[in-house]
Amino acid sequence: MKAQLLTIGDELLIGQTPNTNATWLGEQLSQLGVRMTRTVTVGDDREDIFRELDRAYEAARLVVCTGGLGPTHDDRTRAVVGDYFGAPLQTDPDLLARVRDYYDRRNRDVPSSASSLAERPEGFEALANPVGAAVGLWHEAPDGRLIVLLPGIPEEMTAIFEASVQPRLEQEPGVGEVRHRTLVTAGIGETALQENLGDLSGVLGDDVTLAYLPSTSGVRVRLSASAEKATATSRLDEIEATIRDRAGDCVIGTGDVTLEQALGDTLRAHDATIASAESATGGLIGHRLTGVSGSSDYYLGSVVAYANSVKQATLDVEEAAIREHGAVSEAVALQMAEGVREALGTTVGISTTGIAGPTGGTPDKPVGTVWVGHADASGRQARRHQFVEDRTLNKELFASAALEQARRELSA
Ligand code: ATP
Ligand code: MG
Repeated sequence: MKAQLLTIGDELLIGQTPNTNATWLGEQLSQLGVRMTRTVTVGDDREDIFRELDRAYEAARLVVCTGGLGPTHDDRTRAVVGDYFGAPLQTDPDLLARVRDYYDRRNRDVPSSASSLAERPEGFEALANPVGAAVGLWHEAPDGRLIVLLPGIPEEMTAIFEASVQPRLEQEPGVGEVRHRTLVTAGIGETALQENLGDLSGVLGDDVTLAYLPSTSGVRVRLSASAEKATATSRLDEIEATIRDRAGDCVIGTGDVTLEQALGDTLRAHDATIASAESATGGLIGHRLTGVSGSSDYYLGSVVAYANSVKQATLDVEEAAIREHGAVSEAVALQMAEGVREALGTTVGISTTGIAGPTGGTPDKPVGTVWVGHADASGRQARRHQFVEDRTLNKELFASAALEQARRELSA
């Protein structure tokens, strides 16, 4: 099933509102196995909406629109869609009762404009909105083409989609043609990963495509298989096994697993605890670890040791090590990791000391240099990485490097 998405609203065009509906719906529809062929954004202009609706409806079996379903004068979707299908707007008594009830329960007078929320183009079915006043609308043409109208407000759009649209689409013939699977990797760049995986064309065949999606925590590899569900699943299993075989321990999981979740699971499996000594990351490692529910099972705490005096006073870093090698050095990273492990009494201590930039770089230690330390009962080691020029990206990359180092040491 091919689908096109029409997101409507001036605020999207002028950059006032990020178009999160397009991202979210693109992902949901793709996950269902619908083939997204185009996404268009138009303003609140009647002719523009009409023209793009026509274009989408001519090209795809499913058209999803968001925005412009509200009661204000700039909400034109309902009327334009009615015009396009030659379906006059009718006031639906059930919807009107629902709108009144919605305002009553909130002890608010029904605004006069709200009656438009009860209007429905003839032949369109209302999709209940569990969280707001505007319902979604669904229409199936005799030839099987589908049009779905959803409100612009993301919470309402997603609630209606999950409650009503997704279950209906799953029943449609042709849905499930494309199945996706994402393998999440860490500790390896896009180019090196591609080299490790080698030539995959024989394994992928004509029915599966592969894409590399890099981020600050690692590279995700997305596989898309076009086949009927059972075949697609077995093809994806087969390719996943090949990739895991060639990528070794770089693969940390599938779907939307994060590096901190993968590390957390590994720590739990080893009955181990962790603490971080953070200079350049300023607490980001602790923040990321505690973003995982249940992290109290293994995360004890962090020392944010930004100044050298704090490194010395709280982590027992020797003044001589800082003087001889500098704060961004192997010796200091090792002492920080060992220091926090002892101070907090954990199985594992990890550390970061680096130059996030944009200032502070030297020819020896340019911006983006980081030393990541690791200490456990069997010893300590530190690794130097060279990342980028951007401060925010560097902090994320430094934190990822430390989390990944801990994951690997435990898995080794
Ligand atoms: P309302 O009942 O609020 O009028 P509506 O269906 O008319 O709902 P819009 O008026 O188009 O929707 O948008 C309402 C709000 O939803 C906007 O202020 C905007 O913040 C948000 N919104 C609209 N479209 C999108 C989108 N594509 N992505 C993210 N947010 C959006
Ligand atoms: Mg509106």
